[in-house]
Amino acid sequence: MDHDDLRHWSKIAADWAHNYHATLRNRPVRAPLAPGAIAAQLPEAPPEHPESPEAIFADFARIIPPGLTHWQHPRFFAYFPANASPASMLAEQLANAIAAQGMLWQTSPAVTEVEQVMIRWLAQALGLPATFTGTIHDSATTATLSAILTMREQALGWAGLQNGLSALPRLRLYASAETHSSVDKGARIAGIGQENLVKIPTDSHLSLQPGALAAAIAADRAAGFLPAGVILCAGGTSVGAFDRIADSIAVAKAAGLPVHVDAAWAGSAMICPEFRPLWAGVEGADSIVFNPHKWMGAQFDCAVQFLADPGPQIRTLGLRPTYLETAGREEITNFNEWTVPLGRRFRALKLWFTLRAYGLSGLRARVRNHVAWARQARDALARLPGITITTEPALSLFTFALASDTETEALLTRINDDGRIYLTQTRHAGRFVIRVQVGQFDCTEADVRTIPQVVGELMGRAK
Ligand code: PLP
Repeated sequence: MDHDDLRHWSKIAADWAHNYHATLRNRPVRAPLAPGAIAAQLPEAPPEHPESPEAIFADFARIIPPGLTHWQHPRFFAYFPANASPASMLAEQLANAIAAQGMLWQTSPAVTEVEQVMIRWLAQALGLPATFTGTIHDSATTATLSAILTMREQALGWAGLQNGLSALPRLRLYASAETHSSVDKGARIAGIGQENLVKIPTDSHLSLQPGALAAAIAADRAAGFLPAGVILCAGGTSVGAFDRIADSIAVAKAAGLPVHVDAAWAGSAMICPEFRPLWAGVEGADSIVFNPHKWMGAQFDCAVQFLADPGPQIRTLGLRPTYLETAGREEITNFNEWTVPLGRRFRALKLWFTLRAYGLSGLRARVRNHVAWARQARDALARLPGITITTEPALSLFTFALASDTETEALLTRINDDGRIYLTQTRHAGRFVIRVQVGQFDCTEADVRTIPQVVGELMGRAK
């Protein structure tokens, strides 16, 4: 396959993609397959000789689509969205064609400089002070790991990087019980240990209790631990919990600890000023992560980390072997020094395209619609006999359940086997509950109305 073939097949792929998106509503949202069904259709050994693009494309069109859970399906209401605007797909096509590796400014100045400008645009879009700078990671997990590694090294006076952690005091991190498992993972990978991630009790609003945070830090210090930092939750994955950001940051600052805010999902909603009270005080954070790839249309992967001062993170993650030396160190940014991986994709391009193609007004309108339609779906479900709304909408996320876990689980299985919508589950207050989030880029009010329709129909059928 050469570049002429690429041009030919790219056009066919574009038509395929258009048809794929145009027909998504006719497909079951979740792949209705048994494990191994796709692998069984692939040869066990790699081809020894070149195959024709016709054969490769025909196998793709035959084997792959039936094995997909359609994340861009307008009735995908599971997990959090990984939404992809057409503009972001176009940008990704171009980024793929360019195939640049932007580890240094010099290895593609446009990759670094568009990223810097996008960070500035997004800080404005979210109402953050212009003093925040930042970078783009693949995922929130990596951004949070970077923040945790930086907390660790700040607490240890950068001794861990050289000597390892064995002879050093036992570190502690603090987060709420609603925190995402990426924080647990970060504590594990950073060598701090999951046991040393202290989960602070939450109040009746599912917010970390600042008083309990202060007490835990003081008790740990008295017991000889070394508190390293606080991770706050702005829009938890399970039911959308928000910590009291301002009060919690005040406690952390009084204790001399840095703060990272995980707004992976809800951060996108902060383009709407009316939702910003949910994270009031966030400007006091040292680090904030949000994923435009969740709810802002900049397709996976794209996780933005804002930093009040990038210095400590660069000191933690930056390494400069001779082969990475370039001229002009003082005036340029080499983003590999801000992140865990050395190599980096041109992720900023899809932000640039998406922000321009829809404008903040267009992106805000989507978020506002999703929040309003989620509330309508909540009200319609609440009217169905037997259904309890177990958590009220946090932005566009709420949960519901039937009388017993067994019934709720059975209903969820029927819903997802049916295929018209896709919902997932969580545990809340000891109950198995069904999560509903509205956030898919192309979903309409009619798509969201399908949720109570399908649930009502399937409950009726079970009787
Ligand atoms: N934080 C929150 C609140 C999340 O909801 C998620 C994923 O859903 C993550 C972190 C991890 O995101 P990523 O897949 O970008 O690592």
